[in-house]
Amino acid sequence: MTPDSPLTEQLGDIERALRAELSQAQNEDALEDVRVRFLGRSGEITAVRRTIGKLPAGERPGAGRIINDAVAEYETLFERRREELAREALEERLRQAIDVTFPGIPPLVGSIHPIRRTMDDLLAYFERRGFAVVVGPEIESDYNNFDALNIPPDHPAREGLDSFYLRPDLVLRTHTSPMQIRVMQRNPPPLAIVVPGRVYRRDALDARHLYAFHQIEGLLVAPGVHLGHLKGALTGMCREVFGPQQSVRFRPSFFPFTEPSAEVDTTCPACGGAGCRTCGGSGWIELGGAGMVHPSVLREVGYDPDVVNGWAFGVGIERVAFTRHGMDDIRAFVENDPAVLEQLA
Ligand SMILES: [Zn+2]
Repeated sequence: MTPDSPLTEQLGDIERALRAELSQAQNEDALEDVRVRFLGRSGEITAVRRTIGKLPAGERPGAGRIINDAVAEYETLFERRREELAREALEERLRQAIDVTFPGIPPLVGSIHPIRRTMDDLLAYFERRGFAVVVGPEIESDYNNFDALNIPPDHPAREGLDSFYLRPDLVLRTHTSPMQIRVMQRNPPPLAIVVPGRVYRRDALDARHLYAFHQIEGLLVAPGVHLGHLKGALTGMCREVFGPQQSVRFRPSFFPFTEPSAEVDTTCPACGGAGCRTCGGSGWIELGGAGMVHPSVLREVGYDPDVVNGWAFGVGIERVAFTRHGMDDIRAFVENDPAVLEQLA
């Protein structure tokens, strides 16, 4: 078999035709069409292979090799065209995608969540006055959450309707007050602590209620502590957060773990006390509960109520943040809508 034999000529013709077709093929599908026509089972190369049978036996192996070499060459041509097409496609995409004159997208800058910021502000006020910040578990024994706080087993607050029980003796804490017990059990008086944290109640979710929310608990135990100190501390706290014009009022109330007990209100910052939609016309915003620590609670942790007494308060952080930002739906704090949170930043 010589270079100018009919076979090499034939293969040369096929290669020229193939190159022409490849240069026309503009995508992977067109390329596959060409492959089927040239290299497929009924393609041109198969037709050429069939002619080997007509050659004298001695020439057949040589002819087979020449055909195989040609096929390898064709494969290379296919591969090159495929790479070329991929490169062109990429360049086309880049041409469409990159406009270097287009203004960039500024990175999103996060901010501290309004609940966290309000919590930090409230804590800072008490930290500057020597209160220690302590945190505790959200899963509490019903002893710490209820019994030790003078809430007997038949108290309505203990019903499953109000609390999330994990086991008969374990509950998602319904307030931060169990930390009063934990801290007093481990430390002798005097002590002054604030406890920030999440608490859980089985409230129906609405514009004013969440079933997981945050409180800050305050506890001061020392000889000679009285309600005047408590009112002073809460007034200072409100002035820190809402401004120097704030007043605080106590309304008589009942909590099993304080005696006397009070609901704590502060001047409505939206109207300055004149009455508006935010405060329902009363001029006051309710922040939480407070009172003098019940002697039974002091006795329960081994303190002598004849020697020391104390006050405690629990303030809803959502309530403070909600009022601070003049919001009308408390759920905005937990819906994680960046557009809303950005406005509160
Ligand atoms: Zn108001």
